[in-house]
Amino acid sequence: MEQQRKEYHSLELNLKATESHRFTWMNQYFDLEAHLVFDSKLDNLESSKNQLENLSAVFKLIPFENQFKSKLFSHILQEEHDVSNKFYVVFAKINIFEKKLIQIQHTYEVSGKSQPHGTFGHTGTESEEAKLTADEQNSLLENIQKLLYGPMLAHFTQPFVALFPELLEDGWQERMPLKRGKQEAELVPYQAIFPFAGALELQPDGEHTLALDDLYCTNEKCDCRDVACVVLGLEKLTGKQEILGGFRYHFDKKRFKAMPEVPLPTNGQEWIKRFSVNFPIKLEFLFEARYEFIRKLAKMRASS
Ligand SMILES: [Zn+2]
Repeated sequence: MEQQRKEYHSLELNLKATESHRFTWMNQYFDLEAHLVFDSKLDNLESSKNQLENLSAVFKLIPFENQFKSKLFSHILQEEHDVSNKFYVVFAKINIFEKKLIQIQHTYEVSGKSQPHGTFGHTGTESEEAKLTADEQNSLLENIQKLLYGPMLAHFTQPFVALFPELLEDGWQERMPLKRGKQEAELVPYQAIFPFAGALELQPDGEHTLALDDLYCTNEKCDCRDVACVVLGLEKLTGKQEILGGFRYHFDKKRFKAMPEVPLPTNGQEWIKRFSVNFPIKLEFLFEARYEFIRKLAKMRASS
C-alpha cells in the first residue's frame, strides 16, 4: 500500500544514538534528535541562503535512562515500545552558516507514551510549555549550541555543502576515492563522501524501504554533466536488498537515460517524482549542485 503523498519540507538529521549526541541537563541525561523545517522546498541559491540563515529546528530531548528502561521492558514483554515517559520538544532557530543556535522559541514538556526513535507524533500525549528558569533555559541553549558546533556539526552542514561550498569541513579528501583508471570515470555515491547529507528514502509500507543513491563521476577532466541514480529496495525483516532500477539524468538536456549497468526497465522521471515528495531540496537542483561540487573537489584534489 502506498504511503499518503503529503508533501512536507523537513529533514530528519541522521543522529544515531551515540554517546556524542547526549548531554546532561537538569540532572538528567538526554538523547537528542533533530529535524530541520523549511518554509518551502529549496530550489534556488538565494532563497536557500535566506532560509538557512534563520532555519527552524525541532529538537527532541529523550531522557536516556527512561529510553533504555522502556526498551528493556518492551524487549522483556515482547511488546511495542509504550512505557510512559516524559520528554522535551524544543523549537529553535539556527543559522547554518554561523553554526549557531540563534534562539529557543518554545520548549514543551511532553508526557505520555514514548515514541520510537525518529518520530515526532504526539498522538496520545499531552504537552505543555515547560516552565523553565532563566538558568535552565540558558543551560539548554548552551548544551545544544555545544553539540551543534561540536559532534553534530557535520550533520547540519553536509546536507547543504554542495549548495554552499563554504560549509565544507576537513576530512572529505579521505572519503573521496582516488581515480583508478586513466580513461574511465569512476562513479562515486554522494553519500560515500558525505554520509550525513540526508538519505533519500521512502517507506511504501511497513516492511520495505526504498533508497535512491545518486552517483557522480569524479574525473575532473570529464564533462558528462549527468548524475547516475540507482534505486534500491530493502526488506526490513530479512535485510534482503535488491536493485529496482537505475537511470541517468542529464542536466542540460534535462533528459533521462537508461543505465547499461542496470538492465531493468526504469522510469527515471517517475522515481525522481516519488523521491522528491518528502525531501526538502528540489532533486534536479540538488543533483546538479552536487555534480558541480564533486567536480570542484576533484579538481582541488588533482591540484593538491
Ligand atoms: Zn564524467
